[in-house]
Amino acid sequence: MWENVFHAIDEQYENMVKTRRHLHQYPEVSFKEEKTAQFIADTYEKLGIPYESHIGGNGVLARLEGGKPGKTVALRADFDALPIQEENDVPYKSKNEGAMHACGHDGHTAALLGLAEALLPHKEELPGTIVFLHQHAEEYAPGGAKPIVESGALNDVDAVFGTHLWVNAPTGVIQTSKGPFMAGADRFEIKVQGKGGHGAQPHQTKDAIVIASQMVSSLQQIVSRRVDPLKTAVLTVGTFESGTTFNVIADSATLTGTVRTFDPEVQNLIIEEMEKVIKGTCETNDAAYEFTYEKGYPPVVNHPEEADLVLQHAHKADASLRTEEIEPVMAGEDFAYYLLDKPGTFYFTGAQIPDHYYPHHHPKFDFDEKALPHAAKTLFQSFISYQER
Ligand code: MN
Repeated sequence: MWENVFHAIDEQYENMVKTRRHLHQYPEVSFKEEKTAQFIADTYEKLGIPYESHIGGNGVLARLEGGKPGKTVALRADFDALPIQEENDVPYKSKNEGAMHACGHDGHTAALLGLAEALLPHKEELPGTIVFLHQHAEEYAPGGAKPIVESGALNDVDAVFGTHLWVNAPTGVIQTSKGPFMAGADRFEIKVQGKGGHGAQPHQTKDAIVIASQMVSSLQQIVSRRVDPLKTAVLTVGTFESGTTFNVIADSATLTGTVRTFDPEVQNLIIEEMEKVIKGTCETNDAAYEFTYEKGYPPVVNHPEEADLVLQHAHKADASLRTEEIEPVMAGEDFAYYLLDKPGTFYFTGAQIPDHYYPHHHPKFDFDEKALPHAAKTLFQSFISYQER
């Protein structure tokens, strides 16, 4: 029934490539994406689709109201770049020193703009309303998603879908999961203040190395003995800095590390248990401490029914597409905030160039532009599947 629309999206291919390459040449890092936001706004201006700029920062939201009744669904594309110097030798190489679209957000933006242009002539046939949600600052916490949600601009939205072009999957593969999909990634720092002294007179000191070592051991028991074995978590102490020389007992010690979780309850449990371990160890040893815990983005937890719509119906968008239900990945994404607020799903659109594989955030990262229409078509299919479910 929507063949004509999918055909119209295919016809946008060259336009999408052109847009993507333009954006790729002029990347702007998180919170500094003024020109990119203006480019997006100008595109909607030219198309005559109503839009609002400066949503929660540099966010741009456009709305296409269909001619038939239905739900309001937001389709999200992020548009910020990274502080990386591009090492690709391509005609569309970054012209902005020290900035690069090394995660594919240029492609997300091109796909969503191409979709809007393809859908415009079919407006009257569409049920409900599509919100084209162009988000700034995905790469740098606190990110752009949270202020967009807090701005209230999505209050009337029924569901949110989004995709990430993904070079870890071949072009033509759509991947998602019906629950936890991407991890919450947090950072912590612990400073232990003991009392330094002579290496031969330990009884007159509070040895910061011994105290912090006990702490490192006890912290390992949080995941192994406090977290439900059927839940997933990682607690890693990544650095341990202390001491000055071989015959002096250390005065203080600093530990830093990361916690990765897929469940906010597990995350909160770990924070509480860490506080207990740190406080307990320091009280026992008569030492003082400072504990800083910075929550990164929450985990991306897909809503099962909406994830199922993607898994079951993506092939309707393009017969060449294959779907896979995958295990969660440990990377983080601020799409998480939309899913805490509304039903919806985030999924990966495979975009690997077979003889040029460099992971996301690598200075030689690049993706297969053939995946641009896949992203646009599956986003539209998600919108339709949600209306028809
Ligand atoms: Mn990204």
